[in-house]
Amino acid sequence: MHPLKVLGLCSLLLPLALMSGCGPSDSSSASSASTAPKVVAAFYPLQYAAQQVGGTDVSVANLTQPGVEPHDLELSAAQVAEISQADLVLYVKGFQPAVDEAVAQQAADRSIDVTAGLQLLDGPEGADPHVWLDPANMSKIGSVIAARLSAIEPEKATSFTTNSTALTASMNALSSEFTQGLATCKAKTLVVSHSAFAYLAKAFGFTQVGISGLNPEAEPSPARMRDVAEVMKANDVSTIYYETLVDPKVAQTIADETGASAVMLDPLEGLAFDSTGDYVSVMKTNLETLKKGQQCL
Ligand SMILES: [Zn+2]
Repeated sequence: MHPLKVLGLCSLLLPLALMSGCGPSDSSSASSASTAPKVVAAFYPLQYAAQQVGGTDVSVANLTQPGVEPHDLELSAAQVAEISQADLVLYVKGFQPAVDEAVAQQAADRSIDVTAGLQLLDGPEGADPHVWLDPANMSKIGSVIAARLSAIEPEKATSFTTNSTALTASMNALSSEFTQGLATCKAKTLVVSHSAFAYLAKAFGFTQVGISGLNPEAEPSPARMRDVAEVMKANDVSTIYYETLVDPKVAQTIADETGASAVMLDPLEGLAFDSTGDYVSVMKTNLETLKKGQQCL
């Protein structure tokens, strides 16, 4: 067979190339910069956890670009190929159907549904996927990632374990800051544009009222908006929270009707397009926002 034909066939079968021996036989030198395990995270908080635990010993890609709302993410062919070639894919089952499908088809044995070992809360449309908004869950997710990376790269296991312990310490410190900062809040009702904050609410003593359900794209009915306005009046809610990646118009409308102020609270589903922050810095900004909005004096 003509060598070019072999090459052409191999590039068509790119996802299989590593397994089937396509490409240069001495692939170790060609890919020395990329021999680190490839981790593909479905969206930002999982990227953060993987980077904290993997450090410089892994490469981490994120399927959800900054500024993009991750619910109902659509995948390009290149991203599906990325999933098929990953050593490990981190995702939340039921959060992004296209990712669920690609993982099932391409990476079933090389993936972690990070919610598998967590205690899930019920939401209006089934299990609530927004586990990352309780730092304690981020710590558990880090431990699971460390165990799996250690199996993939046993000689780096000590480093993964050390990094995971450091992530736990950092998440514990963050939880303590929240507990102390929110200990004296007068307002216990947390009114948010979509129901992303149940885990945060449960961890720190609030009751969440979401204008939309678990998916921010769901347009609330006028009746739902009236209900929320009534709950706000009944509970002396002075602040309603909208978010970075979703149009604030519904939250603003209810705020105008009730005389509340509308301020931004970040559900950390992704970083904003030009953000220079990370999980911890965004959560600390959220804490300051909540201290004001929930009247924690
Ligand atoms: Zn959400």
